[in-house]
Amino acid sequence: MAAETVICIGCPLGCRVSVAVDRRGKVAGMRGARCRQGEKYVLKELREPVRTLTTTLRTADRDFPLLPVRTSRPVLKALMRDIVRETASVVVKPPVKCGQVLVSDVCGSGADLVATTDWSLRAGSRKKER
Ligand code: SF4
Repeated sequence: MAAETVICIGCPLGCRVSVAVDRRGKVAGMRGARCRQGEKYVLKELREPVRTLTTTLRTADRDFPLLPVRTSRPVLKALMRDIVRETASVVVKPPVKCGQVLVSDVCGSGADLVATTDWSLRAGSRKKER
């Protein structure tokens, strides 16, 4: 029987949850979660962990070479490297509005890559997201 520790991020308490996993990879026991929501989070984190990816896309503007973006929703952690690789060749052109979809359904994840800042036509004049 193996043991894993997962820190729950469901609320600011950040419970350290110990999970016992049997030889077949099934959860045999859990302790440390103070609520049911935390137990659900830990089970999901063990089965299919997801994260919101924040990265950048290239532009052709030397004054503003990288545009910050994020996924519109959390994606499987296992897909994050593929998403960064696949979007490395994407070149964005202005104008871009904060929240604008720049790559739809990136890597078949069901999430879009969206801009996290405005980028206007005038070189160097951009407004950061508040
Ligand atoms: S287990 Fe419950 S109380 Fe603990 S961090 Fe997660 S959500 Fe918060």
